[in-house]
Amino acid sequence: MEIKIAEHSGFCFGVQRAIDLAFTEAEKDNEGYGIYTCGPLVHNKSVTDYLEKHGVGMIERLAEAKRGDTVIVRSHGEPKEFYIEAQERGITLVDTTCAFVAKIHKLVEEAYEDGREVVIVGSRIHPEVTATNGWCAYSASILETEADAAEYIKNPHNNPLVVAQTTFKAELMMDILKVLDEANCSYELRNTICNATRDRQQSCADLAQKVDSMVVVGDVHSSNSKKLFEIAQKFNKNSIFVQDKSDLQLKETAKYNTIGIIAGASTPEWIIMEVIASMSEKMNTEKNPMLDFMDDIEKSLRLPKPGDIIDGTVVEVNDDAVIVNMGCKKDGILRKDEVVLEDGQTLKDVFKEGDEVQAKVVKSDEGEGGILLSKKRLVAVENYKELEDAMESKDIITVKLTRAVNGGVIAAYKEITGFIPMSQLSDRYVESADEFLGQTVDVRVIRVDTKRNRAVFSRKAVLVEEKRKQVAEVWTNLNVGDVVEGKVMRFTDYGAFVDIGGVDGLLHISEISWGKLKHPQEILKIGDIINVKILSLNEEKGKISLGLKQTQPEPWSLVGTKYQIGQTLEGKIVQIKEYGAFVELEAGLDGLVHISEIANKRVENVSEELKVGQPVEVKIMEIDPERKRISLSIKANLPEEEVAEEAAEAETEEEA
Ligand code: SF4
Repeated sequence: MEIKIAEHSGFCFGVQRAIDLAFTEAEKDNEGYGIYTCGPLVHNKSVTDYLEKHGVGMIERLAEAKRGDTVIVRSHGEPKEFYIEAQERGITLVDTTCAFVAKIHKLVEEAYEDGREVVIVGSRIHPEVTATNGWCAYSASILETEADAAEYIKNPHNNPLVVAQTTFKAELMMDILKVLDEANCSYELRNTICNATRDRQQSCADLAQKVDSMVVVGDVHSSNSKKLFEIAQKFNKNSIFVQDKSDLQLKETAKYNTIGIIAGASTPEWIIMEVIASMSEKMNTEKNPMLDFMDDIEKSLRLPKPGDIIDGTVVEVNDDAVIVNMGCKKDGILRKDEVVLEDGQTLKDVFKEGDEVQAKVVKSDEGEGGILLSKKRLVAVENYKELEDAMESKDIITVKLTRAVNGGVIAAYKEITGFIPMSQLSDRYVESADEFLGQTVDVRVIRVDTKRNRAVFSRKAVLVEEKRKQVAEVWTNLNVGDVVEGKVMRFTDYGAFVDIGGVDGLLHISEISWGKLKHPQEILKIGDIINVKILSLNEEKGKISLGLKQTQPEPWSLVGTKYQIGQTLEGKIVQIKEYGAFVELEAGLDGLVHISEIANKRVENVSEELKVGQPVEVKIMEIDPERKRISLSIKANLPEEEVAEEAAEAETEEEA
């Protein structure tokens, strides 16, 4: 038995595209929202079963979808209001409307807007015809039979636009138009019957005449499959219609020497293959040549889908692209801009005929063109894998900050980009991302979504980690009693915070000076570099107490060497008491001027003679280092005349 496959068979490019887009959508994580087709994507149960198994459900009307859901528009399109409703209700559409069908919608819409009448030649119950009618507010006349045409010409018409259902039988359309022609009804015909349909119908007719029997493979609900069967029957009375291999009467087919196979536009390859395989199993040859043939056919029929990684052989290299044979019916095109090239490198430097290449499919079918491939995106796949690994192992990667966007910056990592939210740009508050643009920075990968090609990075995570390590290292090197260098960072009423190499310690106001301070700013200012002594450490609470005064000698320890009895000094009144006044000789070293030593007269009230802050000249009368006491005298420094005068005044006052 010889099996011949029709030249045009199986999925047309419009249906293939719809299936590809739907399968791609099915692989995505829709974050809890539904993914649906509105009606069956194609008239084939095995395809709809497959989609359902992969999470793509089916609804009958858009009203059944909720806000946030995704609805896949079928290849034969939807009416205009469908798109409007989806937008209003926040439903995402994945539009797989075939380019040919979309063109008809445009023609019909423009004609309607120009006030013209529209005629659709097609089946009035076919969803494509209903959708097309929805682009002229359902005003079109639908001619499905010659009888419809005869009815139509009873009324006058003004040069209507005539379009056809893409899958309508060409002969029937001509019969219908003949009725209009014979009635001298003028019209503008746009023959929109699709080539795929025409080609499939023609190859069906051709093959049916050359074989003993024709097998038409298709779903019972597929109108184009049923039409193929009609054509096959017209030319071959032994034609059979099967949905899949289970419908095959193998005894029946075994009696023919040659069998022709054709499949409707909605029939997937795997069903065609199963039908062929079933028939070929019946062939009683030791080596079944049909199986080899099957392999080739299967390979050549199956076009890679977007996202597939393919292996192929370079068949041509030119300045702009590399042509790759992938063993299927179309070649792959690897454009220059989809290859990673060094400066000045050309495609011919990198590829030559016969090279084995691997690439990622970007677009599976460009109509008559080839399949678009990308090396860059293959590299991107590897790059995303690297990001996934880096995220898992918590490795740090380096990225370049290229562009500010809403809420953050775009960061380039090799051939891909990720996003750094503003809050993750730094460990401090960032007002504007502009200051970071152009910088190369280390980041952590905090999220990767390889399905959606998204990655999120954090620079803050790296900085925080660095800081943590730095702090840990600083702590291990700190010891109570150490004198370390620090920088005054900020003040509070009770002291100053000093950075001692990555950690802050508190320099309490009482530990700044041996003297008394009201505020740390009396001695320090922000940014001062000072040596401080570590007074205490509490790693658990992260608290460090520092002392500045401890880095200088305690004044009383030097009093014996610095000061002598009889020495006259400048000092400042710092405290007034009933029994005298304290005079600061230096920070932390006060002496007492007893009330009797203030003047050469009797002083009743110290504060009538002296004020706090007043500079005075004092003489040291006595030093007691053990009790930390110095007795001072102001009157001992007063001039003698003044003393005599004051004594005389005192005598006069007493006599009086
Ligand atoms: S039959 Fe033609 S018009 Fe219809 S989906 Fe296929 S390619 Fe598009």
